[in-house]
Amino acid sequence: MKKTLILLLIALFGYNCATVPVTGRKQLSLISNSELLPMSYDNYKTVLDSTNLSTNKLQSEMVKRVGVRIQKAVEEFMAQNNMSDQLDGYAWEFNLIEDSAMNAWSMPGGKLAFYTGIMDVCKDENGVAVVMGHEVAHAVANHGSERMSQGLLQQMGGEALNMAMANKPNETRMLFGTAYGVASNYGAMLPFSRLHESEADKMGLIFMAMAGYDPREAPKFWERMAAQSEGNKPPGFMLTHPSHETRIHDLNEQIPEALKYYKK
Ligand SMILES: [Zn+2]
Repeated sequence: MKKTLILLLIALFGYNCATVPVTGRKQLSLISNSELLPMSYDNYKTVLDSTNLSTNKLQSEMVKRVGVRIQKAVEEFMAQNNMSDQLDGYAWEFNLIEDSAMNAWSMPGGKLAFYTGIMDVCKDENGVAVVMGHEVAHAVANHGSERMSQGLLQQMGGEALNMAMANKPNETRMLFGTAYGVASNYGAMLPFSRLHESEADKMGLIFMAMAGYDPREAPKFWERMAAQSEGNKPPGFMLTHPSHETRIHDLNEQIPEALKYYKK
């Protein structure tokens, strides 16, 4: 039934379909960035206001430096593929939050956060680039918007979605909260689906390589992450980013492709 509804909606609103960069996957897109990004930026500000930024200057600057390098690489890639308009309205930001959870997340429009607890697992700048590439990929692939679109379908069903967006701004805002778990302990991100995770892994590998970071470090980072999660550390990233042996396996398989983008 749900699938039929999706197909019907796509037929009715031809524009409600978007294409993910790099993978070319078609995705449901019922919310435009002009509607979504202001909500995202509000929520990001709320999170930052309720947390402390790290006072570790070296690490904070590293997070920003890696973020900007990967951002530039993504912008170049999108320009080369005539997809720059997908980044319209983006306002990139890369912050390091003082929190022992091994976590990192992104919100639509390029709002990213790392927690200090993940910095040891990253080990060095290349490790930061692994996580950064992955989180930037979630943002660039509009995974949050896709999840909200699915939520809209579930909650508002047959109601004309344009009407819903226009007449029910509160419900739409609540959906953002649901999609992003803003009120939850893990800050800003509920687990993504396996599809979104593997897509972000694949795209992230290519983005980090384009930015000049060695993609061969990605499976090593996830191995360190897996080893850490066996201890008593806060689950953070492991909760919002379920680890699977297949993830490391898949990354290893994708390295030859990513290496083509690796600039020495
Ligand atoms: Zn993820």
